[in-house]
Amino acid sequence: MSILLVTNDDGVHAPGLQALAEALEDLGDAWIVAPEREQSACGHALTLHRPLRVERLGQRRVAVNGTPSDCVNLGVLGFLPERPVLVASGVNHGSNLGDDVTYSGTVSAAMEGTLLGVPSIAFSLADGGDFAAAARVARQVAMRVLVEGLPRKTLLNVNVPAGPARGIRVTRLGHRVYTEKIVEQTDPRGRTHYWIGAGEAEWEDLEGTDMGALHEGYVSVTPLHLDLTNHRALAQLADWPARLGPPARDPARARPPRG
Ligand code: MN
Repeated sequence: MSILLVTNDDGVHAPGLQALAEALEDLGDAWIVAPEREQSACGHALTLHRPLRVERLGQRRVAVNGTPSDCVNLGVLGFLPERPVLVASGVNHGSNLGDDVTYSGTVSAAMEGTLLGVPSIAFSLADGGDFAAAARVARQVAMRVLVEGLPRKTLLNVNVPAGPARGIRVTRLGHRVYTEKIVEQTDPRGRTHYWIGAGEAEWEDLEGTDMGALHEGYVSVTPLHLDLTNHRALAQLADWPARLGPPARDPARARPPRG
């Protein structure tokens, strides 16, 4: 049987990970390669400056002292008996919608799989939802991807609502409206510290978005493209070389910055 790589950012002991691996079990040999502890909001970080260690927890279940992207690298590039045919990340505890996908370790794991050329899907469940139900959705989506594949450099970001799902919608990413401010506080020793990300999310124009679908009780399936080049801007910036002139002559400035 083909190998399916199952990972997450909530850690190897998270219930969503177990539910996902079990739901995919009959589609292939589901291998869990997941961070030994929670890595939520770690983004696409890689561990390059210390060794990665792998602890065997079961026959096809291992914990890694690293990030979700580390786990995908290990799994795809040779740790598993064969190269996996699918990377499934999640099911995350909490949704990963709109602009927030850039912070998400769950989504980053699927990005890493995509960059390594393996069809990849990220699954997340809204707060208060049922992991078993989300895993059943995951199985359906995974089966479809295994049969049909995905477009080049494209992953799927799937979010499941908390209540019973009314169906599936294919969506675009929503956008957050940044109304929140930093929270400044003073500790008992009189020093100032700050909290970010403390406010409630506000969203612009929900029509057609992942957030909108979830709001109305649907599963959202958002195709994400990893070609980050803005091709329209490429044409708009075409005359910049002429406008900026030749590189600076000042030798101090001509030296490339270090680090
Ligand atoms: Mn998480």
